[in-house]
Amino acid sequence: MKITFCGAAGEVTGSCTLIDTGTTRVLVDCGMFQGEHAYTRNFTPFPFDPGSVSAVIVTHAHTDHIGRLPKLVKEGFTGRIFATHPTRLLTKLMLQDAAHVMKDEARRYDRPALYRPNELGATNDLIHGVDYDTEVRVSDDFTFRLREAGHIFGSAFVEIEAAGKRLVFSGDLGNDQVPILRGTASLPDAGADAVIMEATYGDRLHDAPEQRSRRLADAVRDTVARRGTLLIPAFSLERTQEILYELNGLVENKLVPPVPFYLDSPLAIKVLPIYKEFSKYYNSEAASLKNAGDDFFVFPGLHITKSPDESRAIEEVPSPKVIIAGSGMMHGGRIMHHLSSYLNDPNTTVLVIGFQSAGTVGRKISEGAEHVTIDHVPVEVHAKVDIISAYSAHADQAKLLRWVTSGKTEPKRIFINHSEPKAAAALSEKLRTEKLLDVTVAEPEKPYDI
Ligand SMILES: [Zn+2]
Repeated sequence: MKITFCGAAGEVTGSCTLIDTGTTRVLVDCGMFQGEHAYTRNFTPFPFDPGSVSAVIVTHAHTDHIGRLPKLVKEGFTGRIFATHPTRLLTKLMLQDAAHVMKDEARRYDRPALYRPNELGATNDLIHGVDYDTEVRVSDDFTFRLREAGHIFGSAFVEIEAAGKRLVFSGDLGNDQVPILRGTASLPDAGADAVIMEATYGDRLHDAPEQRSRRLADAVRDTVARRGTLLIPAFSLERTQEILYELNGLVENKLVPPVPFYLDSPLAIKVLPIYKEFSKYYNSEAASLKNAGDDFFVFPGLHITKSPDESRAIEEVPSPKVIIAGSGMMHGGRIMHHLSSYLNDPNTTVLVIGFQSAGTVGRKISEGAEHVTIDHVPVEVHAKVDIISAYSAHADQAKLLRWVTSGKTEPKRIFINHSEPKAAAALSEKLRTEKLLDVTVAEPEKPYDI
C-alpha cells in the first residue's frame, strides 16, 4: 500500500492524502491551499486521476480540508464523500461561503474562480453522513471508522483497515477542555502500522484552559468600566460558538455586568442551527445545560445582526458594548468596518483569540502596529490589544505527545503532516527521543510504502 501527501506536507494548508492499496484509491481530505501562491496552487492539476478515486473521507469542515472537493468533482470524481453528520452540513455551508468569496475576488481581480456557487450541487450530492465509531465499508479491502477529534464541531480522526494494515489519520486534533466539544478519543489499543498526525503547534504549549473564561470575563468587565467597545474578531465556525457559550455562562451567572453583545457574522449565524440539531455530540457540561433548558446561544443582551444595515447600526448604540464578528484574522468580513470605527479609541479593546497569519491586520495589531490600513484608509491604533492563546483550536505539543501513545500498543511508524517545518522538527525530535518512535516528516507528492 502506498500513501502520497498531495497537500499539507511542510505546511498547514491544502490537506489531501492519497491511499492506494493497489485495488482501491481513497483520499483523506481534499483541502484548499491558503496563503502565498494559493490561487495558482489551487488551480494546479491533482497528481492523480480524480476519476480513479473511489471515495474521500473528510475529517472536518475547515476550508483547508474540504476546499478542493468541488474541483475534484469537476475533474471527474464520481465516488462517495464520507463525513460525520454535522461535518456534512457544515461542509455545504463552508463551500458556499468559499465560492462566494472566490466569486467576489474573480470580479475584483478579473480572473477565473476555482468554482462558482452554482457548481456546488454535484459535490453536495456525493456527501454521505456517517456516525462516529461505526465501521464503513468502501470496498472489499478498505474499511474505516471516524473517531472524535475534539477540534471543531463534527471533527474526526480516521482509523482505516486496508489491505491488511491499520492506518490512523489525525486530521486536526483539538485542545483540551474545549467548550461544547467532547474530548479527543484515544488511539486503537491494537496499535497501528502508521499514524499520520498533524503538528500545527508541535513546538508550542498553550496557556491552561481555565485561563479562557477568566480572561474573557476580565475583558468584558474592563470594557464596561471604561465605557468602551470590546471587539472580538472570531472565526465563524467553532470559535464564535465557543465564545457565545462562555459569554452565556458569564452573563447568566452574573460574572459580568449587563451590556449589549452583538453577534455580527452572517456565516456564524448560519452555523448555529447545525450545532443545535446535533446536540447529541455535545460534551457532558453542554449537554446538561441543554437538558436543563438553557439555550446557550441565546442570553440576555445578545443581539443577532443579520443584514449589513443592522451591522452598521451597531455604531449608533452608545458604548459600552461587545461586538463579535468575522473574520478571525481581521482580513475581511464585518469586523473590518468596526475596526475602522473603533481602533483609534483608547477605550476600545481588541481581543485576539486565534492564529493570525502574516500580512493580516490581525497580525499587525497583535505585534503592536501603531497604524494599519483598512480599505486603503490609514487608521491609528490607540485600542488596547489583548491576546488569549488558550482559545487555540489545535492540540499543543504536550497533547500531541499524549495522544500518539494513548492506545495500549504503540504505533509502528509516525508521519507528520499539517505543520510548518520548525514545528514538525520539534515534535519529531520529541517523538524520537522521548517515545522512541519511528518518525518521518512527510514530503509533498512522494509515495511512501506502508
Ligand atoms: Zn482544522
